Amino acid sequence: MNTISMLINGERVQAGSGAQFERRNPLDGSIATTAPAAGVDDAIAAVDAAQRAFPAWTAMGPGERRALLMKAAHALEAKGEALAAAVAAETGGSALWSGFNVHLGANMLLEAAAMTTQISGEIIPSDVPGSLAMGVRQPVGVVLGMAPWNAPVILGVRAIAMPLACGNTVVLKGSELCPATHGLIVEAMQEAGLPPGVVNFVTNAPQDAGAVVEAMVAHPAVRRVNFTGSTRVGKIIAAVCARYLKPAVLELGGKAPLIVLDDADIDAAVNAAAFGAFANSGQICMSTERIIVDSSVADLFTQRLAAKASQLPLGDPRKGPVVLGSVVDMSTVERCNALIDDALARGARLLCGGRADSTLMPATLLDNVTSDMRIYHEESFGPVKGIVRVEGVEEAIACANDNEFGLSSAVFGADIARAMQVAGRIESGICHINGPTVHDEAQMPFGGVKGSGMGRFGGKAGVAEFTDLRWITIQTTPRQYPF
Ligand code: NAD
Repeated sequence: MNTISMLINGERVQAGSGAQFERRNPLDGSIATTAPAAGVDDAIAAVDAAQRAFPAWTAMGPGERRALLMKAAHALEAKGEALAAAVAAETGGSALWSGFNVHLGANMLLEAAAMTTQISGEIIPSDVPGSLAMGVRQPVGVVLGMAPWNAPVILGVRAIAMPLACGNTVVLKGSELCPATHGLIVEAMQEAGLPPGVVNFVTNAPQDAGAVVEAMVAHPAVRRVNFTGSTRVGKIIAAVCARYLKPAVLELGGKAPLIVLDDADIDAAVNAAAFGAFANSGQICMSTERIIVDSSVADLFTQRLAAKASQLPLGDPRKGPVVLGSVVDMSTVERCNALIDDALARGARLLCGGRADSTLMPATLLDNVTSDMRIYHEESFGPVKGIVRVEGVEEAIACANDNEFGLSSAVFGADIARAMQVAGRIESGICHINGPTVHDEAQMPFGGVKGSGMGRFGGKAGVAEFTDLRWITIQTTPRQYPF
């Protein structure tokens, strides 16, 4: 059993009340982690610590901040094995998935380090004679970051890396489902030598999330919020932030379409669909959730995809390498089973996999999905994905857009000009032509439209989210006044 601490002002602490909560392994129910169950006072103490650390951190030169963030990237990489064990124990993720998480998480820290010298501004021509006018980006203060369990290292790092690079101090609220995994990220930051209070870490029991989050959002020192998680909770966070007028970056659910046009390279589309649909057992916000195939190539495509999907290795990730590990909990199994039952009852055809009775869920594909089926609209967030057959480009685009979400998407087609036109008409933040829907790089503008949220992480877009753009002038000649 692994008992972890929070980090407030550089001190490893338990909750003031002494309360704790447990995270159990999804496969065997053993206690994976015991973590502090913060109350409102602990949450406020974490923001207070970040507020106290802000003046020195923000005054630090970019070169020094860059060096610390680079050290943190290497400290995170050095924790690869511990992170793999924590991911497998807390969320059932495979070693393949945790390895990718550590790799991209470290890259996000390196990219943030590189951006420390790019927090720039501009000179703007002024109509006032002798006025030198500037637009200057400045750190905002304390940033509250909230990360989910599903890509735990990537999203935990993402919640704090760019805010720190911009000269802000942070509080990371860990996920109730992977407190130890998120704790290891914070440990890496501490080992890198970030000063006390620059990064703070709070964990809470599920039932306390609302109160703990609201206390931090309400704290006057918190100037930006970021949340990655479901659209349901994202809307709650948006409402809380609205009450206190705190800008929020919201990275929410997805139902990514992958369109296979009539001239697509079928094998390339099959490989991308299998990867996008079943990496981390389909529990990725960018997971390929709807495969939209032109009917002229649908038989060939579905046959090859089903053959590939049914061969994907499935098992307990603690016992050896697999592609599909355990899903995060039985509620995922119940949700996916219900989606399968509903689709089959309404005329879908099962190509491979099927209902599961444990968190070891097989890769499951449903063909002939139609808009009256729940799986057409709802995020499965598990290894159960639907295939919709369409006639031609217009129907494919209409189907892709017939959804509340708009995070990632993909189009496969040999005629690049036509594929580009299709990409331009898909309502999503991200679209890949002849590539999988699951694709993330630290320097890219990552984010969604519609129910998938607002705001962008990554590169210059991330700098814009976590700085204030200020207008500053210097009057260089005597100023003329009307009276
Ligand atoms: P979730 O929305 O259930 O997240 C739970 C988080 O919300 C926890 O941190 C919890 O403490 C908090 N929370 C719960 N109730 C709250 C309340 N009343 N007030 C304030 N906070 C509250 O999501 P999850 O299950 O952890 O993650 C899965 C979802 O995240 C999926 O929908 C997935 O698509 C999405 N996701 C999005 C991205 C992205 O970048 N867009 C990335 C990964 C996951």
